[in-house]
Formats: sequence, structure tokens, C-alpha cells
Amino acid sequence: MLFAHDTEVALRGAAALVNTAATLLTDTEDLATVADLDEFVRDWEWTGAHSGEPAELEAVKALRPRLRRLWTADTDDAVALVNELLAEAGALPQLVRHGEWSWHLHATPPEAPLATRMAVEAAMAMVDVIRADELARLRVCAADDCEDVVVDLSKNRSKRFCDGGCGNRANVAAYRARQRQH
Ligand SMILES: [Zn+2]
Ligand SMILES: [Zn+2]
Repeated sequence: MLFAHDTEVALRGAAALVNTAATLLTDTEDLATVADLDEFVRDWEWTGAHSGEPAELEAVKALRPRLRRLWTADTDDAVALVNELLAEAGALPQLVRHGEWSWHLHATPPEAPLATRMAVEAAMAMVDVIRADELARLRVCAADDCEDVVVDLSKNRSKRFCDGGCGNRANVAAYRARQRQH
């Protein structure tokens, strides 16, 4: 394992959140309704306050472009953004355990707004990534027609495509190209 378990989950969760946005005209908005956000919250096992109000949905959606910048920023810019997210939320790291989770860090109280907790969880994970000088593991999918962000937690830093099937499509395209040459 490269980072602590909660850091890796937080990075994957932040990537999933960023990837709910429609970045290309051909993409669909995956957080179109409060029901979509409910599902995301369930899938990623977010505990704590969840109002289900439209304002909460808007706050979560507004967070996505800020988090996306972490995938494209150089280290100095990523540091500035992480510090900004932590300061805005008045983050206070505390060790906690709940449910099936052993000791891990929360830096916001469970009653803080969902978007604030999402911002801080992502920022706290980025603290680990930047301190370990591993920012290069955050990248954008290598497929020409995909802007989804990728967290490469592989040993040999080989993950180039998102989990949305781009890797398979690239393999099939390469195979077809080879067939045509015969
Ligand atoms: Zn927790
Ligand atoms: Zn992709």
C-alpha cells in the first residue's frame, strides 16, 4: 500500500466526485439531481450531515472544478489550493474511528456541511500525496476523448486510463489497427 488506507479511499472518492461532472460535450452530468447525490453519498459511504437540499447539491457541484485543479496543477499551485481548502473550512485534524473503520483522520466535525467535509477530506489526502512527492500519480485519462481524472496507485506507475473503459477501448483500437496491417 502506497498511502494510508483512508488516504487512498479519499483520493479515489475525490476522483469519482470530479468525474461526475460533464467536462466534454459528450459527457453526462452524473449529479443532476439531489437523488444522484444521495446515491453518490451511499456509494462512497459518506457518514455525517447530509441535508438532501438543492443548496447542498450546488455546493458539492461547485467543489468539483476546484478539486479537478489538483489533478492538473504543479506542486506549488496544488499546495496553495490545499492550504486554501483547509483554511476555508477551519480544518482541525482529529483521530476518529466509526463503523468498520479503524483509526483515521477527520479534520471537520460530522455536522459540517457535506461539501465542506468533501473538500477537507480531499485536501487532507493531498497533504499525504504532496508530502510524499507523489503528485505525478494524479493525472488525466490518456484517451483522446476522455477528460476523467485518474489516481494511479499501481506499483509501477502504469495506470494511464480511467476506470470508465478507456483502457479496454484503447486495447481494442490497437488490436484492430494491427489487424488492418495484415
Ligand atoms: Zn471517517
Ligand atoms: Zn477515460
